[in-house]
Order: sequence, then structure tokens, then C-alpha cells
Amino acid sequence: MEINDLDIKFRNFLTETKKVNPNSNLDILSRAWEFAKIAHAGQKRYSGEPYVSHLLDVAIILLGWNMDIKSLVAGILHDVTEDGGAKHGDIAQGFGDEVALLVDGVSKVSRVQLRGSLDSVFIENLRKMFVAMAKDLRVVLIKLADRLHNMRTLNFVPDEKKKRIANETLQIYAPLADRLGMGQAKAELEDLAFPYVFPEEYKKVKELSQNYYKTVDKEIDKIRKQLLTALAQRNIRANIQSRSKHLYSLWKKLCRADINWDFDKIHDIVAARIILDTVEQCYATLGIIHNLYKPVPYLGISDFIAQPKPNGYKSIHTKVFGPGGRIIEIQIRTHQMHQEDEYGLAAHWAYNELKNQKVNDRAFVYHSSDKLKWVKQLVDWQKKIKDSEEYIKAVKSDILNERIFAFTPKGDVYDLPKGATPIDFAYSVHTDLGNYLKGAKVNGKIVPLNNKLDNGDVVEILKDKNPKKPTEKWMDFAITTNAKRHIKRRLKSDP
Ligand code: MN
Repeated sequence: MEINDLDIKFRNFLTETKKVNPNSNLDILSRAWEFAKIAHAGQKRYSGEPYVSHLLDVAIILLGWNMDIKSLVAGILHDVTEDGGAKHGDIAQGFGDEVALLVDGVSKVSRVQLRGSLDSVFIENLRKMFVAMAKDLRVVLIKLADRLHNMRTLNFVPDEKKKRIANETLQIYAPLADRLGMGQAKAELEDLAFPYVFPEEYKKVKELSQNYYKTVDKEIDKIRKQLLTALAQRNIRANIQSRSKHLYSLWKKLCRADINWDFDKIHDIVAARIILDTVEQCYATLGIIHNLYKPVPYLGISDFIAQPKPNGYKSIHTKVFGPGGRIIEIQIRTHQMHQEDEYGLAAHWAYNELKNQKVNDRAFVYHSSDKLKWVKQLVDWQKKIKDSEEYIKAVKSDILNERIFAFTPKGDVYDLPKGATPIDFAYSVHTDLGNYLKGAKVNGKIVPLNNKLDNGDVVEILKDKNPKKPTEKWMDFAITTNAKRHIKRRLKSDP
């Protein structure tokens, strides 16, 4: 596209923005666009397009996430200091301090490059990124939009750079999107990176899975028709879609020891997704489904509406024997839950800017307290952990790794890295619980303290009357930085 076409595309973007923000003055966006065109004059992307095409696409992604106007402005300006030669002062003067700070934050994050996990520059940059994030989360959402667009256009980038960028995406940006509850962005980032990082595996999964996607899709089509009829008889209006597991997550599941490339053991390659108006309808629909298709014993039902996952995910999942005898997963959720699953934190942004937070807005309070606890933890670590190697290990294992969630007997949910044990659980609930830990029950049964917890486990910590001195072994059993630090301190302190 040439500049003239991009100007037309920009005006369409303004019209769309106006629809969502009818009462806002959008002059600032037009000024940002003109500013960026001058700052990046003559610069081109690897695709040969004018550089500003990238900026506009980033802003369009941000609009799709319902971000506020200042984020859109920062999206358009996000590369003007790094690549366009503009100064912080210019941006502050023209667009205000808030936009200038956002652009600064994004530019800092842009310098984060993954070059071997022990590279000290990388670690320092990662620290900066998390500090910027903790100040204003919009920074990370803008950076995610930037990365998403860069990944969409990765095929134009020189070969020697492709793999590094894709690798960074898998190791840092996709897990970050996941931690922010942005399911759609995470899936897209992973699938865009997959062929560059693991080309052979990508080909293999793609080939092997094609038939399964097709057969299951047909089966879901039958279910859709039958269910729509049954729901209509009860006057329930539903939107039924089929949701394919994205390729990268399918591959990861195929590699699991208990699956070992047996496609028949994966029941959610394609799932039926039913979207309804109210929570009551979700439960009524569950009954209607089980009346038509028998639930599969032992695999059964997960009610993430009653007990949401720690990243906020809500839905009811049930695995049933479909009309063809194949096991099919059906997911039930409201429209609002659907929005939140796809866009996560961003789904709330436009309505709940940090500064105007209302205490009675439960959705937002949830996001700012629970969902973002780990951001606060990162900043905390950054103060406490001086050793860079230990810091990067903590970030990678505790924050960006795969997570499981486990419950207290009262139903409070805790979010832990995969491989966590009852010791990690105890310390994440409360330091005192860890210090008094004598034993643990998982799902009602006594287990050894090195027992790895599974998703959905109910963990009951058995307490001693007096603080228990941990043994050296605990250091091997615990995997979270938090638990290890406490244990180490106590091993040192009392002889
Ligand atoms: Mn950029």
C-alpha cells in the first residue's frame, strides 16, 4: 500500500474508533498519524510497505481489544523514538505526559531481545520490561499488539532473524498473553511462531491432524443441529460454534507422556462451544446436553463458572459420547465470558482505566487484584533478588511456565507452576502455613510432600502445633521461588 491508500485506511480506522468512542475528540489521533508519517518518512518495512503501515495495523489491533484512545495514540507513536528519531519531550509536548510514558515504556520493552537466557543485557532488559509493565499495563498490551503484527509479517524478515524473533515470541510474549488471559492473542502468537521454531514438528502435526479436524468437525455439525433444535424447544437462543484446538497446543498435548501421539486420547481437537445469554441458561443447557448425549465417566464435567481458573477463565466443560460414538468436548459459556476469554484484560480496558477505577466494579477489581498479583510479585523479586541468574530462573519457571491450579478445601483457587508440590501450595497460601506444614492431603488422601500437584487438585495442608523445621529435602521438593526462599532462610536461621 502507498501512503495515499494508508491515509484512506487511517480514515476508516477513525470512523471505527468513533463508533466505540462517540463522545471523544479524535483530533489527537489524526495529529499522531501526521507526526508518525513525518518521523518515519522514507522508512520501509521488510515487506516494502511504508513503515507507518505497521503503526496503523498495531493501532487497529488495539482498537479490536477495546483499548482507550491514549493507547491507540501510543500505538501509532510506539516506534517514533526508537526508529523515527523523535524525543521524549516532543511527544510529551504534543500528546501529553501519559502518551509519552506509554511510548517510553514500549520502546524500553522493544530493546528486550532473547539471546541466550544468561545474557546479562537480556536479563536487565527483561527487568526493565517488567518494571514498565508494573507502572502501566497498557505498555505490555501495546507491546503485544506490536509483536502480533510483527509475527503476522514475519515471512518478509531476513531468514537469520526469523528464528530468534519466533523463539522470543514462544518464550516470552505468548506466555505473557496467556498470563493476561488473552486466549486469542496467545493462540495466534504460538501458531505464527511454531513453523519457524520447530519446522519439522510443525509439518508433522499439520499433516497428521488434518483428518481428525475434518472428522470431528462433521460430528460437531450434527451435534449443533440436534442441540439447536432441543434448545429452541425450551426457548433458549444459542450461538453454537466449533472451536479447533490451535496447532501448537495440539502438538504440546500430543507430546505428553500420557497421550504419546495417540489422537484418540485427545478429546478437544475440535470442541463445540455454546454461547448463551445468562448463567442460568448455561446450567439448563448442560442438562439438555446430558439428556441427549451421555457424559463420559471419569472424564466428566469441569465447572469453571463455579470455580474459575486463576487467569479468570470461565466456562462449563463436559465430555460426552457424540452421535458417532466419538468423545466430544462441549464448552458452555455466556457472551461475556466469551469476550473475556478471547480478549482477557483488554476486554475491560476501555471501560475501566486504571485511574478511574471504581471499587464497586467487580470485574475490574478482580483484574487489578488477582490477575495482576504476579506483576506485583515480579517487581517485588526485582527488589529482593540481586543475582541475575536467579532472577531469570524465577521469571521463567514461576511466571512464564505452564500453570496448574489447585484448590483449598474451602474452594479458594491458587495458581502454581507445573510440577509444584504441597510445599509450594502451602507457601503460596500463607508463609505461616508453610512454616507449620506437617503433611498434606490431596483429594482427601495423604500424599508425600514431593507429590506433584495436578490441575484441579484439592489440597489440604496438615499443620503442626509448632513451627516445623524444614529438612534439606524440601529444597528439592519445592519448585517455586517463593517457597525455596522461605525454606532456605529457615534452614539457615535456626540451627
Ligand atoms: Mn513496532
